[in-house]
Amino acid sequence: MNEYAVGDIVETKKNHPCGNKKWEITRTGIDFKLKCCGCRSCCND
Ligand SMILES: [Zn+2]
Repeated sequence: MNEYAVGDIVETKKNHPCGNKKWEITRTGIDFKLKCCGCRSCCND
């Protein structure tokens, strides 16, 4: 099941350019968004 909540930390296969691969969920649902935990920048792709 993909039950995520805002504030959860997830790991993805792709690393952010800063080297981090842990992401904080900032929005769930259709408009799913993640924020890099390393440099705190938002990435929506
Ligand atoms: Zn980053």
